[in-house]
Amino acid sequence: MAKAKSAVKTTGKRSRQNGRAAIVTGGASGIGLACVEALLGAGWQVGVLDRDEKALERVRRRFRGNRAVRIGELDVTDEPAAVAAINAMAKAFGRLDGVLNSAGIGADVHVLDTPVDLFRRILDINVTGTFIVARAAARIMKQQGGGAIVNVGSIAGVRGSKGRVAYGPSKGAVHTLTQVMAVDLARFNIRVNAIAPGPVETPLVKAVHTPEVRQGWIRHVPMRRYAAPEEMTGTVLFLLDPAQSGYLTGEIIAIDGGFRGAGMMLLED
Ligand code: NAD
Repeated sequence: MAKAKSAVKTTGKRSRQNGRAAIVTGGASGIGLACVEALLGAGWQVGVLDRDEKALERVRRRFRGNRAVRIGELDVTDEPAAVAAINAMAKAFGRLDGVLNSAGIGADVHVLDTPVDLFRRILDINVTGTFIVARAAARIMKQQGGGAIVNVGSIAGVRGSKGRVAYGPSKGAVHTLTQVMAVDLARFNIRVNAIAPGPVETPLVKAVHTPEVRQGWIRHVPMRRYAAPEEMTGTVLFLLDPAQSGYLTGEIIAIDGGFRGAGMMLLED
């Protein structure tokens, strides 16, 4: 894999802006990409960071001509590169109001077959990567007088689902990291929240979910379907916007079609 670069490029003419700037990690695919689109639609300037060069190239083509978009290649586990990329984007925007930590990987492997390497890799990206990016952003936000960080946890970090022996704890840790950062950063007017999605139809899920797993989800999600990535964006925008959620911090919001709260259900035909 190519080493992360801190060089950040813009892609063309200016669009209608609200003056605010956000960075989205994992912004080249799935939930991150849907949030990039939604933020741009709401007038934000948006920095897209991802480690996937091909996906970034698609993002570059998609937003060509939009000067509100900046794009950088980054592996979030590479601390010096992450700090450099976030500082460079904040400098280019002249501010940093929001961060969405969407970069993450998953796996569905039985506990007895899970290699320690895989366990460590999932924790490194999902937990350490989120910490590195959130801390770098928070240092800038502190100087600036405030900001909002949204981490992407998972319903797998709340309840035990099969095969998630590494992924589940990684997302549980993201939830606790969110709560601790919310406490430590509240005095600097930096809010830290997380969303905990249920199954969302993204490239990650297409790679991991077998037909049996899909059936299992449909059976246990009261709304009986997967979410579209776009169904995550309203909550993320709400959490990033101090006008809408200025007193909301340390919260984990499940967006899961009712999965977390579900008890006894009748199976449908
Ligand atoms: P996705 O694979 O479509 O997008 C994830 C992006 O993160 C990819 O573009 C990938 O290149 C990037 N990424 C992975 N490792 C990275 C790294 N080390 N550095 C930088 N970028 C990296 O998947 P998605 O489903 O959109 O997942 C986004 C987030 O949502 C993840 O944290 C995932 O765990 C979480 N999540 C997804 C679901 C779901 O059902 N899709 C449910 C709950 C939580």
